[in-house]
Amino acid sequence: MIHLKSPEELECCRLAADLVSRTLGTIAPLVKPGITPLELDRIAETYIRDMGGIPAFKGLYGFPNTLCISPNDQVVHGIPTQQALRDGDIVSIDCGVKLNDFIGDQAFTFAVGTISESAARLLRITRECLELGIAQAKAGNRIGDIGFAIQCHAETAGYGVVRELVGHGLGRQLHEKPEVPNYGKKGNGVRLADGMVLAIEPMINAGTKSIRHERDGWTVRTADGALSAHFEHDVALVNGHCSVLTTFQYVDEALGTSRQV
Ligand code: MG
Ligand code: MG
Repeated sequence: MIHLKSPEELECCRLAADLVSRTLGTIAPLVKPGITPLELDRIAETYIRDMGGIPAFKGLYGFPNTLCISPNDQVVHGIPTQQALRDGDIVSIDCGVKLNDFIGDQAFTFAVGTISESAARLLRITRECLELGIAQAKAGNRIGDIGFAIQCHAETAGYGVVRELVGHGLGRQLHEKPEVPNYGKKGNGVRLADGMVLAIEPMINAGTKSIRHERDGWTVRTADGALSAHFEHDVALVNGHCSVLTTFQYVDEALGTSRQV
């Protein structure tokens, strides 16, 4: 069942989304060569708790940390390690917070130092995929319209769209109905309705769409070892329009970059 949120619940979602965005903004200037994922994880956890929130991933399904930190060929669900990030890496950081019983969930793939042109292109295209997916989140459309837009843009660029992992509804739970695949057919799937809150999160591989799972039970990597990127926003359907609850504003301010969403 899809839980449609009341205006009061949407406001709670908005506050949780703002906290998760501020958390990514807090760590953004620290994502540099030499820092370890575990250091970033501790800083994020301290910040979330100081702001009155709870790390939503920690303990969920048994995940041990606050952030999923997935460098280079890791797609998602990387467990923070003590292995320092290196110049030229890309690193996907996914954060979940719970605030007043509601969840915010957001991901951003960072460049560590100076990255290759091909890596920068992957980040740009994946972020564009997110923007194009969000543009389809409006009254009259269906879930498949979101996935279709994302898939078209990624595949036109020559990239692979991960199939096994998808976006989702969220609210009091991190993962609610409906699923939001990053692939699909126009006009297919659940019809979008006011009160839906969705995490839209393209996971795009520079090479094959295929993935493999590490023995740690969490880390997901590209099957061919090529790079992978992941950008995620939480959005709500309000009066037939899409309201983006999370923002990259804090990250962009910290990095000196700027984009539309
Ligand atoms: Mg996430
Ligand atoms: Mg998510």
